Amino acid sequence: MSANVDSPEHVHIAVMGAGPGGICTAYQLLARGITDFLVLEKASGPGGTWYHNRYPGAECDIKSHLYSFSWELKADWSRPYAGDTEIREYLEHCIEKYGIDKYARYDTEVRAARWDDDASRWTLTFADGGTLTADVVVSGLGMFNDLRYPDVEGLDDFQGTMFHTARWDWDHDITGERVAVIGAAASAIQLVPEIAKTVGQLYLFQRSANWVAPKEDRPYTEEQLAEFRANPAAVQAFRDEIFRSTDPFITFQDEARLEMARQACLRAMEVVEDSEVRAKLTPDTPYACHRPLMSNYYYPTFNQPNVELVTDVITRITPTGVVTADGTEREVDTIVCATGFQTLKYLSAIDVTGRGGVRLADEWADGAQAYLGIAVAGFPNLFVLYGPNTNNGSIIYMIESQVGYVMRQIDRIDGERLASMEVRRDVQAAYNEQLQHDMATVGPWQGGCSTYYRAPSGRIVTQWPHTMTEYREATSRPDEHAYAVAPR
Ligand SMILES: Cc1cc2nc3c(=O)[nH]c(=O)nc-3n(C[C@H](O)[C@H](O)[C@H](O)COP(=O)(O)OP(=O)(O)OC[C@H]3O[C@@H](n4cnc5c(N)ncnc54)[C@H](O)[C@@H]3O)c2cc1C
Repeated sequence: MSANVDSPEHVHIAVMGAGPGGICTAYQLLARGITDFLVLEKASGPGGTWYHNRYPGAECDIKSHLYSFSWELKADWSRPYAGDTEIREYLEHCIEKYGIDKYARYDTEVRAARWDDDASRWTLTFADGGTLTADVVVSGLGMFNDLRYPDVEGLDDFQGTMFHTARWDWDHDITGERVAVIGAAASAIQLVPEIAKTVGQLYLFQRSANWVAPKEDRPYTEEQLAEFRANPAAVQAFRDEIFRSTDPFITFQDEARLEMARQACLRAMEVVEDSEVRAKLTPDTPYACHRPLMSNYYYPTFNQPNVELVTDVITRITPTGVVTADGTEREVDTIVCATGFQTLKYLSAIDVTGRGGVRLADEWADGAQAYLGIAVAGFPNLFVLYGPNTNNGSIIYMIESQVGYVMRQIDRIDGERLASMEVRRDVQAAYNEQLQHDMATVGPWQGGCSTYYRAPSGRIVTQWPHTMTEYREATSRPDEHAYAVAPR
């Protein structure tokens, strides 16, 4: 039975989010012939991260042939690291080709999810007050939804234009303006070279320097594209090769390769003419302590006369500018907050209440944790995609592992006619104990960086410390014993 997209009161499966996670789930449900589901998305269209992040220079930093679904390889990515528009169009193509749009409800923000013990179902409450019940909830909210703004006095008093990189205001023309970019990490290193071409003056406020490696990103030639289009096996082989070269490195165990990457960053930095600026750009942390970044254009930007790197701490925002600890005020027309996201909240960014009225935010007060990053003790029939400790490698590859796992659980719920299945607390605890033990073997992550990896408790809650292959294996193993189940 298909869900009535307009006004259902109940669905078998509610999928939250129409990013890669939601799209992949919908694809796999339809591939199984399951149509009693809805995809609930707060934005006005699909694409998730790539719907929201449209700032100049936005692009992926995993090669696109690998940052795409295994069931819908794209032959003609224009270059190795595609930009946001190309990725967004690819995701829209997936939605259209597989008829997923029919199941998507946009402009539908889920505010709360409450498990009803007696009825063995979830009730979702939307921003407009409407509700929907579901037997199973799959969260595809991802890790990059809750925007982080600079925590600095006076931010709200600024009289000029201000926006976050994830909500770029394309109606506002920054040509010739004085622009402050606050934050010098993943988004900023992509954005700064682009806007430096057109703004009058750019101030980049950096709290800590990041290692920025060069990348091989020449657009594919017409001959290469023709070969890819004509030969699907070549596309698959190309993707496999990217996988083989990427997968072993993401555990950061290879000291020689880490040092090579660090040296490559230092060499790339040599292009910066001013030795003082070079010194400010040189991180005092090990390579990969923060998330490794890549750009061929970031360092050269600092030779432009209209670009200033500011490392003094911001103490205040005034109605007209940014004041640093040395008392200097730099007057600006626009402030761009390149301050990233509240990455540690995951699903607890919305109000989720599980068995016995326990709130997920309380359950995760010391930092998010789950079994395989997917199932949470006390929260039956709930599956989280791109959840705690699953961040590494190509996230689309990781999501495919998770969705495969979730499909097997849904098969079990349907096949065994279960009212509920809930991961056992002892299984979740043992899994996380082992995970944190393994985390300690990843040298660069012990470097003391205060990154988005760590909860205030000190526990690393975002990262997967192994390869993508190992995650695929972990999520493929039979593990019926891990769950307590109740019949319908
Ligand atoms: C700028 C940027 C660059 C990145 N580059 C890479 C990369 O190169 N390689 C890589 O592997 N990963 C990258 N990532 C990580 C990226 O988030 C994942 O690759 C991927 O998008 C995760 O998919 P998702 O569906 O889990 O989450 P998302 O893509 O974040 O989608 C989540 C969706 O949930 C929706 N949503 C949120 N809250 C609600 C709510 N309450 N109700 C309803 N809907 C809601 C959002 O609007 C969004 O559409 C990048 C992230 C960012 C921010």
